[in-house]
Amino acid sequence: MHNKRLIWQLYPSQLLITLGALLAFTWYGTSSIRSFQLNETAARLEAQAQLVANTVAVYLGHDDITGLEAFCREAGKKSTTRLTVIAPDGKVLADSDEDPLRMENHNDRPEIIAAISGKIVPSLRFSQTLQENLMYVAIPLQDGGKRIGVLRTAIPVTAIEQALSAIYHKIVWGCLVVAMIAALVAWFIARRISKPLEQMRSGAERFSRGDFAVRLQEEGAEEVASLARALNEMATQLDIRIQTIVRQHSQLQAVFSSMVEGVITVDTAERILNVNESGAKLLNVDPEKIKGKSILLAVRNTHLQSFVKNSLACASPIEGEFSSRMGADGQEKYFYAHGTRLQDRQGHIAGALIVLNDVTKLRRLESIRRDFVANVSHELKTPITSIEGFAETLLDGALDDPDDARRFVAIISKQATRLHAIVEDLLALSRVEQEAKREEIVLQELPVVEILQSAIQSCTPRAEEENMVISLSCAPTITARINSALLEQAVVNLLDNAVKYSGKGSTIRVEAEEQQDEVLIRICDNGVGIAPQDISRIFERFYRVDKARSAKLGGTGLGLSIVKHIVTAHHGHIAVESSPEKGSIFTIHLPV
Ligand code: ADP
Repeated sequence: MHNKRLIWQLYPSQLLITLGALLAFTWYGTSSIRSFQLNETAARLEAQAQLVANTVAVYLGHDDITGLEAFCREAGKKSTTRLTVIAPDGKVLADSDEDPLRMENHNDRPEIIAAISGKIVPSLRFSQTLQENLMYVAIPLQDGGKRIGVLRTAIPVTAIEQALSAIYHKIVWGCLVVAMIAALVAWFIARRISKPLEQMRSGAERFSRGDFAVRLQEEGAEEVASLARALNEMATQLDIRIQTIVRQHSQLQAVFSSMVEGVITVDTAERILNVNESGAKLLNVDPEKIKGKSILLAVRNTHLQSFVKNSLACASPIEGEFSSRMGADGQEKYFYAHGTRLQDRQGHIAGALIVLNDVTKLRRLESIRRDFVANVSHELKTPITSIEGFAETLLDGALDDPDDARRFVAIISKQATRLHAIVEDLLALSRVEQEAKREEIVLQELPVVEILQSAIQSCTPRAEEENMVISLSCAPTITARINSALLEQAVVNLLDNAVKYSGKGSTIRVEAEEQQDEVLIRICDNGVGIAPQDISRIFERFYRVDKARSAKLGGTGLGLSIVKHIVTAHHGHIAVESSPEKGSIFTIHLPV
């Protein structure tokens, strides 16, 4: 509903009161004036009648009607009053203004009736003869106690009416002026009241928009000033509360977004209310886009959806684990989730809070450890079974045959060497791993050439057996932060592989070069090379492209694993370029 403006509420009532008072006063005033005027006129008419009554009575006494008429006309003209003489039977005998013969019988006129009965009663009425309002006063005429007629005086009251009508006109104009003044006054009053109210309204609107910088002026009428005070107080309180809420909210938000765990809140309809940055990252979603969406549509993981459902259904917190391929890389991720149902103050279910922990790394490590144990057992099992078998065969009588005995003992020795190599490599691996973990590996700025020379020296006898040449190209100025023993071991492993997997008489090149912020060490061979699908796996423990060949060459499948760990301990990385039957290039990148 559209509310009326204050001025339209004030003005009509004010105008009504003013005009009412004015009209009442006017009515009372004019009616008083009118009746005073009429009374005055009646008294004057009576006095004039009394003045000429004796003369008229004399004319009547002498029956001198002609003289009477002449007298009436004369006196009437002089006094500007109409004079009429009427016989007791009502017949008009003489009149100052009219011919009596043309006048009708007057015994029905109220003033005449009253005069005949001896009373004087003025009468105001419209004269058919003169066609205007007249005031009539009639007095009885007596001659020696005998009623001989009635003398009537009359005067038009138009003057009084005109005077009154002029007053009425003035009053109408006065009313108009008063209406305008009342409007102005009402407008001023309305403005005086509404202006501070208007200011308060705009102030309250500012407060509602959260702008508490400016306060309302506490001035004007007491009611208005106290309202402004109350509004200002309200604004102060609101400001304090809003600041507290904002502070708490930002603290909460900071905690929420700095959490490593993914936090998701959902309502009872499983729609996402909020998700923190970690949560969005874990689920690979845009946090703004999924707000308000159902969890199933937003994340498309039935395990998570049923976990949310259970969290909403269960009064006590629940835990669970599930996997998903939600990551951008499509890799399987493992989540450990906590779900807690949320309740409001009245105890109604408001939704649920889900906390997600990414346990993918943990699960992968567990699986790597499990695989490693299985692999180690498997690797050890083969030589041990072989040693056990041949030892039993020897005991069972093969010892008696010197040829067999020699052959079998040679096999046992070979398997023992293999066992030794595996155990040596495992120990080396675990040592590098542990030292790297405890940050015990000491790195020193040393020339690279010495390490490469000494590695080549260790591999030369085996290379010479195969008629191979190992060439070195390294400027003596190249230095890097290295642990000489470990880096030598890494280069030896790579050279050993190059020798193992290259044909007789080939050349192996060892090169070192400095590049921007890296030192590169390359071991290049023209050997069998590695197929692309195997390249990513050769650094895994016990991974061998050709198991039989590797075993025959005394490989354990741990060599490259050790290299990778050593390079990582140097804060570097290793890269491979290889193509089958063409050869391989292993490049160690060491940061300067
Ligand atoms: P191994 O002890 O079997 O050599 P490594 O971990 O050193 O184990 O190497 C893993 C696998 O990578 C090897 O079995 C071999 O198939 C392949 N490989 C390593 N170096 C070379 C190379 N220079 N040329 C061809 N294949 C290689």
